[in-house]
Amino acid sequence: MNENFVPATIPPDNRAVPSLWFLFHKFDLLVFLDEQGQAALPRVVSPAALDLGDFRVVGQQYFGYLQNKTRLHCYAGELVPEQGDPNLPDGLALMHLRRLYGRFDEAMLWLAGRAVQLVDWDRTHQFCGRCGTPTHTAPNERVKQCPHCGHTSYPRLSPAVIVQVTREGKNGREILLARNKRNQLPMYSVLAGFVEPGETLETCVRREIREEVNLEVKNIRYFGSQPWPFPNSLMVAFTAEYASGDIVLEEAELVDAQWFRADNLPLYPPPMSIAHRLIEDFRQAESMAVNANS
Ligand SMILES: [Zn+2]
Repeated sequence: MNENFVPATIPPDNRAVPSLWFLFHKFDLLVFLDEQGQAALPRVVSPAALDLGDFRVVGQQYFGYLQNKTRLHCYAGELVPEQGDPNLPDGLALMHLRRLYGRFDEAMLWLAGRAVQLVDWDRTHQFCGRCGTPTHTAPNERVKQCPHCGHTSYPRLSPAVIVQVTREGKNGREILLARNKRNQLPMYSVLAGFVEPGETLETCVRREIREEVNLEVKNIRYFGSQPWPFPNSLMVAFTAEYASGDIVLEEAELVDAQWFRADNLPLYPPPMSIAHRLIEDFRQAESMAVNANS
């Protein structure tokens, strides 16, 4: 997360200061790429100062500032292609947020995740969901209002749980990891799923584990959380212990699920995700336990 970021909705009086621009085409962020492959955001007074090739900017939103010695203001916007096969000038690139990991300051990456959700919200709430009238954006609050029927829409968040399930196996502690059908790579991860209306997070943890692998869990504990902007999740992570049952796969979603020891882990998600943190937490606890016993 970016500790220096202060969210805000009202832009500064003085607009003639260079600001950071988070401009997206779908989930791809506009960046300057240098010859080493490092990426940087445009820092300009307005996107009008940039040569954007076949793109134009719509839906500009001010969303806050970075407070260091001075304030660095942040804007988000959507890039719309003017024609079917749009070009960008040399040195500029559109990159998916996931591909920017490692090329880009991590705190800035999370700020970009915040920006892309606001852009997506703006794009999908141009009209009232109840009566179809074009909406207005409130000046001092992040909300779309319908001038006809008064319906309001705030940026939507979809909470999901993600769970590290462990058990005491015959040869030491094990973690439950599963391989999802949608993942092209032979990658295993912890189980996750969206919270349904009316559920507590703990109920959701039990239901997801039951539905996906037919196991019961106990000792559910909060671990941490992470915004996941693809497109608007909030991942709430838990640890839990195996209580009972044998693995039976939910075959519509999973191709495999197994118990793994820390010294025998399969390919798992890269550092950007909270799934990685949950699996690393297990691995590190086990390596400390092994060192303590040797
Ligand atoms: Zn309406």
